[in-house]
Amino acid sequence: MAELLKGKEAAAAIRARTQAAVQELKQHGITPQLAILRVGENESDISYEKGASKRCADAGIEVKYVTLPRETEQEEFDGILQSLNEDESVHGILMFRPLPKRLDSEKARKMIAFEKDIDGCTDASLTGIFINKPQGFAPCTAQAAIEILDYYGIEIKGKNIVVVGRSLVVGKPLAMMLLNRNATVTICHTRTVDLPSVTRKADIVIAAVGQPEMLGKEYFSEGQTVIDVGISWNEKKGKLCGDVLFEEVEPIVRYITPVPGGVGSVTSTVLADHVAQAAKRQYEKNNVPAAE
Ligand code: NAP
Repeated sequence: MAELLKGKEAAAAIRARTQAAVQELKQHGITPQLAILRVGENESDISYEKGASKRCADAGIEVKYVTLPRETEQEEFDGILQSLNEDESVHGILMFRPLPKRLDSEKARKMIAFEKDIDGCTDASLTGIFINKPQGFAPCTAQAAIEILDYYGIEIKGKNIVVVGRSLVVGKPLAMMLLNRNATVTICHTRTVDLPSVTRKADIVIAAVGQPEMLGKEYFSEGQTVIDVGISWNEKKGKLCGDVLFEEVEPIVRYITPVPGGVGSVTSTVLADHVAQAAKRQYEKNNVPAAE
């Protein structure tokens, strides 16, 4: 039987760190603020927005909601995003993507000021990860997966880690972040030949494919650590599930994250922490001691 890597416990440790940073900022008269920019009424966006708002409130961070109708024109959208970039009371911007088709998601992604890019979507943030010189922030989900490994003391350095999935939101940045921590990383995708033979050899398998319960027992071997990033609604079972077939895999491996209650429960806590860090960086930048 595997030991469960519970997101709640890892999240509590991050939250304590965030609360301390927020308290310090408040002593300087600064209340960190996150702007949540949502276009339309997508249910999963609304659900994430609720979770992020709760995590921010827990940490003493304010939230400004900018909710626009699906019919919003590009020019108006650009103006609103630009004004959030320029608003000094806003320290982080969370923009839900993809935007409705009439708006240019790529343009919007690139427009966010990297200092406020708390979900690591701009080219500047991603470049920082790629060249291992952080600027902006890492994507929250990718960082949440690493936070769980760190919280439970699971070594990354020198380990063979297989990341299944290569999206720009999760798989690719996560693989680079693990490489930066000196793991030996293999990235798998839909064209990988004989995926089970690759995942079975890993010390750590991270699943970010978005295919409910795709990875059954044939993908795993004894002693492994499994981080399941996937979150899907399983129609047949009427419940949330991950990319890993938990009932089959949990009896085999050493550690596994549950879904729900694993990576997903850490992601919005990481987001709140990024807002506090962004506010701190912006405060420090504006208060550089004058040279003699
Ligand atoms: P995505 O953009 O759809 O990317 C999925 C990746 O998985 C692609 O690289 C794809 O390969 C690969 N893939 C799909 N089917 C595969 C298969 N049968 N065999 C091997 N590789 C396969 O998804 P995403 O945005 O990265 O999200 C992945 C999962 O994470 C989703 O379930 C999503 O809901 C979840 N998620 C969770 C959180 C959280 O907080 N926990 C946050 C964001 C996303 P190709 O590149 O070859 O197509």
